[in-house]
Amino acid sequence: MTKFVVTSAKALSEQKRREIITKLGAAASDVSFLVDEALIGGLIISDGDKILDASVKGKLTAAAKKATGAIANKPLEHILTSLREEFSHAQSADKVKAGVVRSVSDGVVFIEGLAEAKVGELILIGEESFALVMNLEREEVGAILLTGLQTVRAGDSARLTGRIVTVPVGEALLGRVVGPLGDPIDGGGRIETQNFRRAESPAPKILDRAKVSEPLCTGVKTVDAIVPIGKGQRELIIGDRQTGKTSVALDAIINQKGTGVLCVYVAIGQKNTTVSDVVKKLRETGAMEYTIVVSATASDSATLQYVAPYTATAMAEELMYAGKDVLIVYDDLSKHAVAYRTISLLLKRPAGREAYPGDVFYIHSRLLERSAKLSEKLGGGSLTALPIIETLGSDISAYIPTNVISITDGQIFLESELFRAGVRPAVNVGLSVSRVGGNAQPKAIRQVVKGLKLDLARYREMAVFTEFGADVDEDTKAVLDRGAKLTELLIQTQGAPYSMSEEVAEIYAATGETLSRIPKGGVRKALDKVLDRIKSERPEVLMEIETSGELSDENKAKLDAVMQEVIL
Ligand code: ATP
Ligand code: MG
Repeated sequence: MTKFVVTSAKALSEQKRREIITKLGAAASDVSFLVDEALIGGLIISDGDKILDASVKGKLTAAAKKATGAIANKPLEHILTSLREEFSHAQSADKVKAGVVRSVSDGVVFIEGLAEAKVGELILIGEESFALVMNLEREEVGAILLTGLQTVRAGDSARLTGRIVTVPVGEALLGRVVGPLGDPIDGGGRIETQNFRRAESPAPKILDRAKVSEPLCTGVKTVDAIVPIGKGQRELIIGDRQTGKTSVALDAIINQKGTGVLCVYVAIGQKNTTVSDVVKKLRETGAMEYTIVVSATASDSATLQYVAPYTATAMAEELMYAGKDVLIVYDDLSKHAVAYRTISLLLKRPAGREAYPGDVFYIHSRLLERSAKLSEKLGGGSLTALPIIETLGSDISAYIPTNVISITDGQIFLESELFRAGVRPAVNVGLSVSRVGGNAQPKAIRQVVKGLKLDLARYREMAVFTEFGADVDEDTKAVLDRGAKLTELLIQTQGAPYSMSEEVAEIYAATGETLSRIPKGGVRKALDKVLDRIKSERPEVLMEIETSGELSDENKAKLDAVMQEVIL
């Protein structure tokens, strides 16, 4: 057997061959010569373990790689590139552990002969398809296909890679729409980034975290007033279909303009058109500049819908660890749970309640645990999460809703009845809470919202009783009257978030004495007028609230005066 293989572009002369043999210090019988025109020029010398590539082709490839940086165009291409290099250095394919695909269905593959596979490891199937190990069984390995859904067939070879899923991350992704593995899908060309991050990584430890203490204003009056959100918090948005869940989350993103907060929106299992509407809205409002959209639509496989939120979180985490404040929206985790259920059933895992596998709680907790406010030592960045859950018939005690409610720090409950009645955003004040955001609420808002939640909750309760035209006493009438007006106060169209000072001014105006003089039904109009007047005639009031974070007595008086003028 020959020890060295020398490949050249053209056949070498006898003299040249002798020179090489002497340089290698080998016997003539130990060296074999091959010709490969594809090399263009130069030589490749291999001794089985090592390769010396001095060919023109090799140099060109290396130069091209340097010029383009890491490639992040196709899903997992960066991993494929490094694997190809590694495998080409291995003497022969049989040095790398190989198995065989036994069966494929709906993105789930079973592979034999990979006894050393680890859960979460990537398997290379054929030349360029990747699967992620989910199940380890006695005879075979169950894995989900991330790429090559159409091409992988039973009988294909499969190799362990020793790698886990990593995705491109970094500021280069801002403004882009990417697929579930970070590949660009917006036609905007390649994403130039050298940074990659594991899709799944451990959540920050307790000691690495700081208290949630800074507000993250959503620009949605009801939310900022009644269920305030702090940076690093996880607040669930829950409600039936078509109740304005996505709109609340989008308003929160739009409202981050100019605040330095970066955003990630991940769409899971939605229609393509819905996602493109979201992107369009973000573009129109200028919010796309600081936002990454990760999209795994209903037409993507369940496996890709399953990984999308993890990769989106990796992208958000990278920014958080760089000291930035980040807001991530998961739209929505109900469809994520359904995708996971599909995969689990195909993997033949035992089904539990509502046919979900037993660990469905864990897939969401390990996702949402990654949100945090980091300590100063770690740069003080934060990741605030707004997961969305869709309910059926407002049933928040179903399996997935209760799971996610127990993982998050509060919920914004949107109700279809309110939505239909024109109370939009349709927040059910009684059932919505924020468990940690109260401390983070700006002082100026805290000054004006005292009693607001209680008044509204009492109003909704009483309104139910009086629906049947029961006679009511004067006290109840007063509660009803005030409640109806406060409800009008909180009505807001989507796509038009309020600044903090506007919220303060409007809520202050609407909770004062003058309110009783406005007839029911005319409150919204009157308040719009008040706000317009303040903006045009007293902009300094808004400026002061914004900079000092408080509502001074002097400014209160000025607001009262405007209110008087408008009402008279
Ligand atoms: P789905 O369950 O389909 O995801 P969703 O709960 O996310 O729906 P949205 O898509 O946000 O709801 O909104 C549903 C519809 O209600 C949209 O047409 C939207 O324009 C409208 N809408 C949402 N919020 C408001 C609002 N504050 N004022 C008026 N219309 C609104
Ligand atoms: Mg939606």
